Amino acid sequence: MNDIPFLDLRSVNLAHQQALTAAFARVIDSGWFILGDEVDAFEREFAAYCGVRHCIGVGNGLEALQMVLRAWGIGPGDEVIVPSNTYIATWLAVSEVGASIVPVEPDLLSYNIDPQRLLAAITSRSKAIIPVHLYGRVADMADLAEIAKPRGIRILEDAAQAHGARYRGRRAGSLGDAAAFSFYPAKNLGALGDGGAVTTDDDALADSLRMLRNYGSREKYHNERRGMNSRLDELHAAFLRVKLPYLDRENAMRAATASVYTHELEGLTELELPTPCPDGDPCWHLYVVRHPRRDALRRRLAELGIHTMIHYPVAPHLQPAYVDRGGSPGLLPISERLHAEVLSLPMWPGMPADTVARVVDAVRQACASC
Ligand SMILES: *Cc1c(COP(=O)(O)O)cnc(C)c1O
Repeated sequence: MNDIPFLDLRSVNLAHQQALTAAFARVIDSGWFILGDEVDAFEREFAAYCGVRHCIGVGNGLEALQMVLRAWGIGPGDEVIVPSNTYIATWLAVSEVGASIVPVEPDLLSYNIDPQRLLAAITSRSKAIIPVHLYGRVADMADLAEIAKPRGIRILEDAAQAHGARYRGRRAGSLGDAAAFSFYPAKNLGALGDGGAVTTDDDALADSLRMLRNYGSREKYHNERRGMNSRLDELHAAFLRVKLPYLDRENAMRAATASVYTHELEGLTELELPTPCPDGDPCWHLYVVRHPRRDALRRRLAELGIHTMIHYPVAPHLQPAYVDRGGSPGLLPISERLHAEVLSLPMWPGMPADTVARVVDAVRQACASC
């Protein structure tokens, strides 16, 4: 029997092959590759999808986060609160603008930033909070707003894993002062290369970002700010326009797979499954389980032909990139425990039912011998 990959990205994109090829031909034929009709149209379509006034297409998710912080004037001397258990890009965006990272531990049921701990981390220098909707489940935005609003602290959603996720009827991307998305190929809405976007209802912020992404220029060769070059390409915008209309359907396919996993894996000793989400619908970017002997479980699954991933194996504060912050083992124990125990099972839209069933059988078998 063939191995089961963690993610079959080839089949995900082949489902759109004809339309992607047509989009490619259309862009070549237009002779226009940077900031044109395709980006304009995608920005309108994605803003409408998220339920906000503005979408600004940028180079990638990291730069989307970074440019919002810059546009808000956040820099040296300021503090930005981030989850302790996130992909390192959330932290890198804060470092890039020269602000201080204040990591806050997650809630063990949602894996998202814990509002109570966050409250304790606030100081007079706190300027922004970056909640990450980890694995596609929206953070507790109502509690975060209650803490941030009266203190004048801004909320920047890291929605890089949350395309289409809902919270109390609203979409990720419309729940803070601004949101950053990534269109990295493996995300729920993925380009065929790098891409990103900011969504916001703030007209002034949108205006600043349109300058910042384009050398700080509104008018060609006139530079008001020291900007960057970070733009969503016409080609990727055209590809994303092909895939956006299918995002809800593809997220529903992921949710169906997640529900089979949860139903069929319930009750296995020592295996922790994702908990129900009372506040909305996750978009199931990842289906993450936990096990005290995660590495043994992962090895056993590999022997059975099931490929899995770890999101993420090393906590940001223990990465060599952040040694100068003085992060040592034991400093953020919840995060460290999660990084040692989490395991992501295979998940993609269109994953065949018999493939899901094989993963279920293998996890049952592996749990019995770990
Ligand atoms: C993917 C990701 C990013 C970075 O996006 P890129 O487009 O790869 O730069 C940021 N935050 C989180 C949580 C992510 O998963």
